Amino acid sequence: MLGSVNLKGLSMLKQQLDRVLKTTMDRRLMLHERGIDTLEDLLFYFPWRYSDESEFTRVIDLVDNEMQTVKGVVSSLFARKTQAGKLMLRCFVEDETGALEVLWFNQAYLQKLLHNGMDVIITGKPKLGRSQITMMSPKYEIPKGDELVHTGRMVPVYHSVGKITPKWFRDKIFPLLYLVDQVKDFLPTNFKEGEELMDLNKAIKEIHFPQDDQLLEKAKRRLAFDELFLLQLGAMQRKWYWQQQASRNPKKLVVENEVVNKMLSELPFILTGAQTAVLNDVLIDLERPYPMSRLVEGDVGSGKTVVAAAALLATITSGFQGLLMAPTEILAKQHYQSLFSYLQKYGLNIIFLAGSSTGKEKERVYEQLRQGTADLVIGTHALLQDKVEFKNLGLAIIDEQHRFGVKQREILKTFGAPHLLSLTATPIPRTLALTIYGDQDISIIDELPPGRQEIITRVVPEKKRVDAYRWIESQVQKGRQVFIVCPLIDDSDEVQAKAVKAEYERLQADVFPTLKLGLLHGRMRQKDKDAVMEAFSANEINVLVSTTVIEVGIDVPNATIMLVEGADHFGLAQLHQLRGRVGRGEHQSYCFLFPDSNSDESKKRMKAMVEFSDGFKLAEIDLQMRGPGEVYGVRQSGVPDLKMASITDKSMVAKARRVAEQILEADPELVNYPLVRERLGSLDREFGIDY
Ligand code: ADP
Ligand code: MG
Repeated sequence: MLGSVNLKGLSMLKQQLDRVLKTTMDRRLMLHERGIDTLEDLLFYFPWRYSDESEFTRVIDLVDNEMQTVKGVVSSLFARKTQAGKLMLRCFVEDETGALEVLWFNQAYLQKLLHNGMDVIITGKPKLGRSQITMMSPKYEIPKGDELVHTGRMVPVYHSVGKITPKWFRDKIFPLLYLVDQVKDFLPTNFKEGEELMDLNKAIKEIHFPQDDQLLEKAKRRLAFDELFLLQLGAMQRKWYWQQQASRNPKKLVVENEVVNKMLSELPFILTGAQTAVLNDVLIDLERPYPMSRLVEGDVGSGKTVVAAAALLATITSGFQGLLMAPTEILAKQHYQSLFSYLQKYGLNIIFLAGSSTGKEKERVYEQLRQGTADLVIGTHALLQDKVEFKNLGLAIIDEQHRFGVKQREILKTFGAPHLLSLTATPIPRTLALTIYGDQDISIIDELPPGRQEIITRVVPEKKRVDAYRWIESQVQKGRQVFIVCPLIDDSDEVQAKAVKAEYERLQADVFPTLKLGLLHGRMRQKDKDAVMEAFSANEINVLVSTTVIEVGIDVPNATIMLVEGADHFGLAQLHQLRGRVGRGEHQSYCFLFPDSNSDESKKRMKAMVEFSDGFKLAEIDLQMRGPGEVYGVRQSGVPDLKMASITDKSMVAKARRVAEQILEADPELVNYPLVRERLGSLDREFGIDY
């Protein structure tokens, strides 16, 4: 197959597919979409499962209607048109014990391929009739020597790509396997031996066409190791570079504890033990000669904002500027207000920047940041624009960091290497956090302020819908407010906006004609969104019908009911976030989940929501049920879509970390590991990390 192409040496792996394989433009494009352009890419496109067809069944032993593989000789082959106009190919396949009838339809090329007397291997589900056995449209393979590809072995099953079938992948990959020997193993031999890891070339061969279960298992372990190793190595190296670079120009912060303590003593509450501990971690970091890179995880309502405020105050009184960035404008506004109330009395100049700021406002903000007349800026992504420059940024805080990517954090680092603090309410189990956010230290606020009420959570079946509406109405009459969140039906804001609008109109007209309803979605103009949120905060709106834009951060203590439509379309972490929008005031709060589906999976998730109020617990369940890619999102959060590894496999994570640490310790710039560097580079591109 490759005979006519003359390609030499290493470069072969890097050849574009179409130079080597006969394939259509259509296919090329589909493969390109999946990031498969070169022969190497194809070799790294791994099967997702195997069908074990390694055992042959003798014809005499065949059982009815079960997948079985038979090896035999073709006889009595003939083709004809059926009444329906289909081409039918019929033959017998016989071994020493008997013969079975085999039928294929509309497979003209088979007619050319098969002839009487040839060996064939077929896999399918036979029908055992009274007088004969028939197999319809089995998979088949003409064995050439020992090389079985499609049947009669552990057969790799690839995810289809567009119209490209698993069979196509088998056909193309099998003859390319000899190239695997050219793949250079980036992992030094001593580590492979120490950790009992298979050679990379062998692992790639085995992962595609395994010889047996045990070798397959070893191959999987090696490839899983690689993913976890490179992931952690990359993160650890980023951290190393960052601290190296930044320590040349250290921010010499001196925390004035009195000012911080004064601020804390003037709060209307006392910090929880967990808040105090985390704030201490942060204050210690601020005085170090290299920049902090710390992630604070804390459940919804655990009080991350005030910790951020105290850290910002410490930074600013030490003569530096501060920044706080939030993922939505609504949330940024709210932070602006609360930080203003915490910090204004210290005579700070606190300013705001968001996409909706006018050109003139923006220019003023840029100017004040550059001149150093602004002490603290709060805003959205708008803060990452090229025009933003700081006189001396000391601390940058990212709220709801899971809504941002690694890239955003990298941009913040370019603002003169400030200390970096990320906040997230997505509770990520520690081992996982260490792996995916390996370039950050982690502090956890694992305690809620006292007196927080449990939110009563109920799954509402369709037949109780009307009752639920009536009950909600009675609560509104008592003065409470309600969120109604519409299901996630589509990725597109536009479709989502339409759906939520329709629901809003329905609710206003048919369900709550006497109440004041508000509408909120991502497609609205910022000004209108703000107006709606303000009206809701002021209790001028009783029921807010919304998309998940209200998921993050918003604080309206008088809102006590969260109703989620299509609740089964959300992940547990997201439902937990939504639920966290209520229960913030003195009144008993409720969360009503309306699932669309009654599937087991849906039931399990709803049950978890009713049973658990702890975000960490829910995150763990979510992880088990859906895997990290689904739970944390792939690209946005920088959590890679691991193919082979399970990020919850603690011992493998630890093993990979151990090797990464050893390598970096001796050679942080990987001077002696050019192959590792190369793999890291291509991984970063895959995850959309570029600098
Ligand atoms: P999150 O961690 O979800 O960002 P916030 O910082 O918004 O939480 O805090 C939620 C609410 O809890 C705010 O109204 C805040 O004033 C209040 N709060 C924070 N810390 C405490 C505390 N130690 N005791 C009582 N209330 C607190
Ligand atoms: Mg918050």
